[in-house]
Amino acid sequence: MTSPSRRPLILANAKMNLTIGRANAYLDQFLPAYRASPDREVAFAVPFTVLATLRERLQGRAIGLAAQDLFWEDEGPYTGEISAPMLTELGVSYTLVGHSERRMHLWEDDRMVNSKIRAALRHDLRPVLCVGEAEDTRMAGAAGSRVRDQVALALDGVKPRSGADLVVAYEPIWAIGTGRAASPADAVEMHNVIRAELRRLLGGQGEAVRILYGGSVTPGNIDAFMACPEIDGVLVGGASLKPEEFLRIVGFLPLPA
Ligand code: PEP
Repeated sequence: MTSPSRRPLILANAKMNLTIGRANAYLDQFLPAYRASPDREVAFAVPFTVLATLRERLQGRAIGLAAQDLFWEDEGPYTGEISAPMLTELGVSYTLVGHSERRMHLWEDDRMVNSKIRAALRHDLRPVLCVGEAEDTRMAGAAGSRVRDQVALALDGVKPRSGADLVVAYEPIWAIGTGRAASPADAVEMHNVIRAELRRLLGGQGEAVRILYGGSVTPGNIDAFMACPEIDGVLVGGASLKPEEFLRIVGFLPLPA
């Protein structure tokens, strides 16, 4: 299990799925079977258009609400964008930042990611910084240096009030949506690289930052990931869209007595 000072976070990433109708149907299945546990935190990162629906349906439940992106300014002439105050107003407490799909399809770069992290923290929205290497980078033996650079650039000049306000998700690009998860040993090696960089950048605060693993997490491999003290939770894409699979993932062992 993870360090007692870092409560594990199990974060679903619905990506560009879930209409309001489908979100309601999902929750109709998920909520009656969900049992909250004080030793773990669960949250859903959903499209902007279903945030209000989830807020209503999750009222009184120990389940957090997350966005998948935000803009770096608070308001102004930025057509189509959504700002941190707009998200916190909806009860959102986390936001993904720099997911590899955004870096790939929307050309999001490290400078934008840095600005988005600053914007989130200005408004008490906890950023979940997504980093990870491409397969050829890993083959070239440069996975550690690539991910270290991503963390350093994303957090350049960033001073969270507390390390607990920040989450990093290590998501190797080759593992996302492919069914080829990293081995727990490879994930731990990368988490150690990230932890060392967080300590260098944030000093003692770096210890409180949670580092999640993401990439083809399933009911079949969740227990092995969560048995590693270096892994403080998971970011789950595909499997989170199936209520029965996500229920098994949030119920990772060891369950509380
Ligand atoms: C993701 O997109 O963040 C992700 C981890 O996807 P998947 O679980 O489908 O690999």
